[in-house]
Amino acid sequence: MRFMEGKGVSKGVVKGPICFYQRAAAAVSNHASLGMEAEKRRLEDAKAASIEQLNALAEQAREEAGADAALLFETHAMFIEDEDFCDCMDAALMEQPCTAEGAVELAGEQFSAMLAEMDDPYMQARAADIRDVARRMRNNLMGVTEGGIDVGEPVILAAGDLAPSETLQLDKRSILGFLTQGGSSSSHTAILARTMGIPAICGLGDALDPAMNGCTVYMDGETGQVVLEPDGPTLADFEAKLARQREQQALAESMKGQADVTLDGRPLMVYCNIGSPEDVAAVQANDGQGIGLFRSEFLYLTASQYPTEDAQFRAYKQAAAAMNGKRVVIRTLDIGADKQAAYFNLPKEENPALGLRAIRICLNRPEVFRTQLRALYRASAYGKVAIMFPMITSVWEVRACKEACRAVMAELDQEGVPYNRDTELGIMIETPASVLVAEELAREVDFFSVGTNDLTQYTLACDRQSNDLGRFFDPRHPAVLRALKLAADAAHKAGIWIGICGELAADLSLLETFLAIGIDELSVSPSAVLPLRAALRRTSAKACTLDRLECQAEGERE
Ligand code: PEP
Ligand code: MG
Repeated sequence: MRFMEGKGVSKGVVKGPICFYQRAAAAVSNHASLGMEAEKRRLEDAKAASIEQLNALAEQAREEAGADAALLFETHAMFIEDEDFCDCMDAALMEQPCTAEGAVELAGEQFSAMLAEMDDPYMQARAADIRDVARRMRNNLMGVTEGGIDVGEPVILAAGDLAPSETLQLDKRSILGFLTQGGSSSSHTAILARTMGIPAICGLGDALDPAMNGCTVYMDGETGQVVLEPDGPTLADFEAKLARQREQQALAESMKGQADVTLDGRPLMVYCNIGSPEDVAAVQANDGQGIGLFRSEFLYLTASQYPTEDAQFRAYKQAAAAMNGKRVVIRTLDIGADKQAAYFNLPKEENPALGLRAIRICLNRPEVFRTQLRALYRASAYGKVAIMFPMITSVWEVRACKEACRAVMAELDQEGVPYNRDTELGIMIETPASVLVAEELAREVDFFSVGTNDLTQYTLACDRQSNDLGRFFDPRHPAVLRALKLAADAAHKAGIWIGICGELAADLSLLETFLAIGIDELSVSPSAVLPLRAALRRTSAKACTLDRLECQAEGERE
């Protein structure tokens, strides 16, 4: 038996033959410079061809893996026109006799080395993106077509590392899993693998030996384990995992079209979180019954200036209309803290998570808020739109939001523009302050949705962005669960519904607790809908208790 362990970055167990990725031989251009002007023209042609290919890839990614994957290729295309990158290539061409290939190589190396040296692992991982862009440009200059795999059966694809564009260009039907020697969980290949639902393990180092080409292995994308020629007990273990996985997949499939109710008939709304209208396709594919959180800031983060009212209207309308009468909760922009857009010119803050973010920006910049509210109300004529305000701490903030809504409705009335006057208004419960004044807040709005990511951060005084807090960042902490209970009691006292849209909503081990607390809606990523529905349908609501709200010793928690 041979055993390797790397970092599991995309869940799932598979068995299959290893196939090492074949790259087009790193072609070296040895033609002499044709002179500065001619090389400049060649460079411009290669830039244009590369941008065209990347835009086509972005479209393919949007269809196969969603908006986030498309953004990756759009960013690659933008990088080709980056001023500093272009200046670096132009400067190299001035040093004749340099070829366009040489200029691209030099600039690619300089920029990727600069990123690789940064402290932030996310930025380090971006070095691979720059190498990917530079390789594409060089290939275009030399007329080289990239390699891939040439197999008749599905394989586990192995490589030193895979560039995002290589990952996307593969025929997914032929790929059972990914194994790489390098890479990290924040590399875009890992992100793409997760979006496409293909198991992946990275960081296997030299243990992943090209001599293994063709050997059959078992891999577990959760634990990061790979086994070749397993012994009896290991084989039985992997076969049992495969059988369990098959059962879960069949169960999830069988849940399509079923109602979201407990065994004893208590309904719970199972909705989805999305970042763009394109994600609605995944909601529909997984039979989501509504959208509980549309993070509208995505529209702002991908733009280089404030998105216009019309651009926003089109995006909201597209989502609302596609959901065909099912509820679509759109959150007003939640910019600030970790989500920065340069054109907002936000002040540099010591503690941005405690600073000017989300609703605070909207209330300080009424024109920005008005534009978004107009787009939202106009979209409300095309579906069941609900509007949700993030990061609320005080009753006056909610009243100010409602006042802004009334002003926008009055404008639309005057202009004769159609909208739904009864559009539901809700708030996110994500600060301890909002929990403590939940009774007053509940009298002002139509629903609550708990953002457990931020509620955990602010309740436990733990930065959600930090990688070092480990067990201290615990969304299952009794303090967070008791906050949920307080908010739920306040909501029900006022006769409104309450949901959860933070990551905790998908934690199946807490489903009974959520039912005992009285949560009415859970909003999760589209791929989590069917497993959640299956768990819900085998749970008896009457038997659910509030045990977890008690404090437990660290070791007692699962
Ligand atoms: C949350 O805080 O739980 C939430 C859903 O909002 P975001 O993660 O976008 O801050
Ligand atoms: Mg939040």
